[in-house]
Amino acid sequence: MYKRDEIGPEYVIEVYDQNTGMKGITVIDNTALGLGKGGIRFVPDITTEEVMGLARAMTWKNALAGLPFGGAKSGIMGDPKSPHKEAFVRAFAQKIKQYMPGLYIAGPDMNMTEVEMGQMAEELGNPGVATGKPASMGGLPHELGSTGYGVALATKVAIEHQGKPLEGMTVAIEGFGNVGTFTMKFLTEWGAKVVAVSDSKGTIYDEAGLDYEELFKTKQEKRTVTAHGKGKVLDGKDLFTLPVDILVPGARPDVITMGNVNGVKAKYVPEAANIPMTYEVEKVLMGKGVLIIPDFLANAGGVISSYCETEGWDEKKMFEVVTEKITHNTKLMMERLGEDNDSRAAAMGIARERVEEAMRGKGWKG
Ligand code: NAD
Repeated sequence: MYKRDEIGPEYVIEVYDQNTGMKGITVIDNTALGLGKGGIRFVPDITTEEVMGLARAMTWKNALAGLPFGGAKSGIMGDPKSPHKEAFVRAFAQKIKQYMPGLYIAGPDMNMTEVEMGQMAEELGNPGVATGKPASMGGLPHELGSTGYGVALATKVAIEHQGKPLEGMTVAIEGFGNVGTFTMKFLTEWGAKVVAVSDSKGTIYDEAGLDYEELFKTKQEKRTVTAHGKGKVLDGKDLFTLPVDILVPGARPDVITMGNVNGVKAKYVPEAANIPMTYEVEKVLMGKGVLIIPDFLANAGGVISSYCETEGWDEKKMFEVVTEKITHNTKLMMERLGEDNDSRAAAMGIARERVEEAMRGKGWKG
């Protein structure tokens, strides 16, 4: 039997399609604030327990973002490179169609892109069942940069809340994909100096500062930032211990560990990637006065953009909504920050209060 608590999950749906052999899971964790919203990941080893954990994380993330969405998540078991992927995606859509979009709206996650979101919408004949669809289907693809913009904005708001200017601060960014590129673009535009960027091949480090347009061109033409030609090439792991003001983990989970945390010199760590370190490791940094902007606040630009897509808003309006929500919620977290400097606890407190208040409003909780 799966573990349930006072928050959820409300629905645990396991599906199997005899025709294709597709196995999938949808967990709708809590719908007090609105229907369940969360992406679908396509991986060979997904389990129901894992999807339950991810759905709960979405309950908190959507609540903290201030969206009228509950938390949910889905998984399809399979090899993402398999020629049967599309058949699995379509079979999955058919199996859970009775929940969509009344109780659940899908979105992209690992190995699921705008292409698969388009297939789901087409299969069910309803663009409302998924977000992250191609622009041609009325989508607001994550490629517009909402997540990286939100990371940069949360960083700026938090620093300015402490009465300091972002201008002139030095930055190191792990990862130069969707999130990393836009984080660099906006931090640079707002006067910070990005001195180091990494990708899977290593780190490029130039104390004089890296030019965004030039680095973007290098990555496009030579496939790696390390081929930039200016500055020094370092190992990928060296990025985390560079002497910078702001360190942005923006690619993989668990990159700051008990093994390297004492080498971190940054004073601000906005978590662009999901779970770049455990709570225990975060607490070590918090204890030293480092300001962590937790992942579910820093990278919420993506879910806020998804919400705007369900409302049928355009790109301009989407950036306005991301700006308003990220600014408001970051300020709220900073105001709640206690003596212990535990920003994750402060952010979780806000999310939990919003969910519990909505549950009381519905008579689900005394
Ligand atoms: P992406 O696939 O566009 O880019 C990933 C980048 O990481 C690439 O530049 C790749 O070279 C780099 N990378 C891979 N291995 C690396 C390594 N060993 N060291 C340094 N860099 C390495 O992915 P993304 O969409 O930018 O997502 C990055 C992170 O942000 C993920 O943790 C993702 O879950 C999280 N996130 C993304 C979004 C979104 O809207 N895209 C929203 C919320 C959270």
